[in-house]
Amino acid sequence: MAVIVEEELNVYQSAEARFEAAAKKLGLEEGVYRYLKCPDREITIYIPVARDSGDMEIFTGYRVLHSNVRGPGKGGIRFAPDVSLDEIRALAAWMTWKCAVVNIPFGGAKGGVICDPGKMSKTELERLTRRYTAQLSDWFGPERDIPAPDIGTDAQTMAWVMDTYAMHVNQATTAVVTGKPLELGGSQGRHEATGRGLMFCCNSVIAKLGMKREGCRVIIQGFGTVGSQAALLMDEAGYRIVGVADIHGGSYNEAGFDIAKLYDWVYTQRRPLPEFPAGGQRMSPQEILFRPCDILVPAATENQITAQNAQRLQCRVLCEGANGPTTWHADTIVEQKGIFVIPDILANAGGVTASYFEWVQDRQGFFWRESEVSERLQDVMDRSFAEIVRYAETNHVGNRTAAYMVAIERVARVLTLRGFYA
Ligand code: NAD
Repeated sequence: MAVIVEEELNVYQSAEARFEAAAKKLGLEEGVYRYLKCPDREITIYIPVARDSGDMEIFTGYRVLHSNVRGPGKGGIRFAPDVSLDEIRALAAWMTWKCAVVNIPFGGAKGGVICDPGKMSKTELERLTRRYTAQLSDWFGPERDIPAPDIGTDAQTMAWVMDTYAMHVNQATTAVVTGKPLELGGSQGRHEATGRGLMFCCNSVIAKLGMKREGCRVIIQGFGTVGSQAALLMDEAGYRIVGVADIHGGSYNEAGFDIAKLYDWVYTQRRPLPEFPAGGQRMSPQEILFRPCDILVPAATENQITAQNAQRLQCRVLCEGANGPTTWHADTIVEQKGIFVIPDILANAGGVTASYFEWVQDRQGFFWRESEVSERLQDVMDRSFAEIVRYAETNHVGNRTAAYMVAIERVARVLTLRGFYA
């Protein structure tokens, strides 16, 4: 069995290695290659926050703008204890490639704060969010860099970001963030969009591979915004969700779960997912990845499938809901096993696509029905899936490399048209 080397778990090195491989295959011109390899800019900020006890704590936060070549930076804000600058850099670069894969006019960015939101009160989180935003009020903007929710942040966090920014620029500016509450200029269908996009990709893949949707066995790791919505929508559409997991543990049931009831158990009754009464065989959150299924959807966090464990996968399709769930070193093993990969920068792009729709609606002050959002999302996801798979087949590369190549080519083309200033 392979040994996990430290760099295998560094997501920035994983992102870089994939960029390098794709850029090499494209024969990217040296100057363009060097330019796209580095972020446009990055900042570390120290954020003083008064705890409810009256004590002052200083939190460390980051924002990285990887690229604004194709449009303003776009990317979430993550609140988690293990946030690092390297992680935010990787996530920012992935946003650039993701926006280019689905061909929406955004660049890539990402932000994060090292904190444990589960151990902070709502008022502490509000003060942290507002101070973080205030320190970045010159950086953010609807034409500069547009945040969204990510792990540990939600629609309420985005409402605070929007309000703080609005106070600084002295005008209500709804388009400065996406993933906001509906009442504040949010979009119908944004909350479900990443999960819905994953399902559209799965629909495309089963049509391509001649699989049947009814009874198609799906395992989903992560039951947050992405995982729970994908599970609800896919269950409703006829897929059989046989495995689920969150940070507390996993459960596998060959007969399939009643996802609406599980959702109620976790989100209304606030009970631990692994204790769901109609659940199956309990296991660790990671072990769920290695149970038999047709489609595996890691939708929790990074570095779940590594060179050490990839050999144990028993799925036919890997549809990446999380960003970076598979390490660079695991890619070859997954490929050798003949698993059909829908890479993260395609599979989970439904979220940023709906964010783009939200930004468009905010700027035009005219809002769409949920069915319109969903229809437009399907157009984008179906077209992008077809483009990537066709590119992979034509150029005899894996789907992940194809997605990077298409994205890098699109960004490089715009860069060449714009030229280098000064
Ligand atoms: P979330 O915080 O709402 O949910 C995360 C879920 O994963 C929770 O159920 C948590 O318990 C679980 N989890 C965390 N660590 C785990 C572990 N080690 N093992 C098993 N489960 C674990 O976050 P989210 O918004 O659903 O995001 C999940 C992933 O999807 C992240 O990688 C995020 O960057 C990516 N993503 C999110 C969106 C979006 O629209 N929210 C869009 C694109 C990509």
